[in-house]
Amino acid sequence: MKSINNVAYPVVDHCNLNCRGCCRFCNQSQKKNFADIKVFEKDLRRFKELVEDIEMFRLFGGEPLLHPELDKFIYIAREIYPNSEIDIVTNGLLIDKMPEHLIEAIKSCYVKLEISVYKPTEEKMPAIMSILEKYKLGHTLNYVDKFWKRFNMSGDSDPNEMWRSCSWKKCNGLRNGKFMMCPLPIVIKEFNRLFDYNYNFDNEVIDIYDETLTFDDINNFINRPHNYCAYCGQPDFIEWSVGGKIKIEDYAVKLPDGTEVK
Ligand code: SF4
Ligand code: SF4
Repeated sequence: MKSINNVAYPVVDHCNLNCRGCCRFCNQSQKKNFADIKVFEKDLRRFKELVEDIEMFRLFGGEPLLHPELDKFIYIAREIYPNSEIDIVTNGLLIDKMPEHLIEAIKSCYVKLEISVYKPTEEKMPAIMSILEKYKLGHTLNYVDKFWKRFNMSGDSDPNEMWRSCSWKKCNGLRNGKFMMCPLPIVIKEFNRLFDYNYNFDNEVIDIYDETLTFDDINNFINRPHNYCAYCGQPDFIEWSVGGKIKIEDYAVKLPDGTEVK
């Protein structure tokens, strides 16, 4: 069986929270940006030609529950990957506002809600739990009071060492026909925009519509370090909070000139 461990597909880029140091910079996305259901279906059908099974398929964001067609994403994912664990990664704040048709999709497709419990989520837990229990929805609770940061903008880390100890290497991403081992090649674009840098890791992203591509290419691609791993440092953390002006210190452990950020 041509199988890989995990794939995550972002269905929105914006969020209803504004966490300091959000690793996808959703805290800075003022503009609403929803993934297109037709592109999603095309991408997933093409990916299935290459990878027969995905152990865990995640729909995430931003906040995925903001997508008005999330139920359609779920039905398509379940049809194409009938044996995968399918999870929605959410901050939980909209669980008590989910429409019946979305609840039905979650239940009938055996989807699990991976709930990141931030302080505002915790305050809503009674309402959230009552929906989860009422509809017997599968879920996990992940309490979050700090965020990891790890950019080493000087690029002088040993990629092999960083990769070996990295927990994000199991965060393969797919979107708009592009597949990547970890979110860095995508999130670096927002980093550039916000802090006026010009890093580019586009050559370490796979075009899934490349007709010469094989399962072995994908499997090899996700099981080795990439050059951009040199731009990760030993992780540090910041306390979770919301709001405030975005600062490079919330993301980087080292600046381009090698200065360490405390
Ligand atoms: S809830 Fe998640 S996606 Fe939203 S701003 Fe916070 S970390 Fe980012
Ligand atoms: S760039 Fe490499 S080391 Fe850094 S998070 Fe991604 S996979 Fe891990």
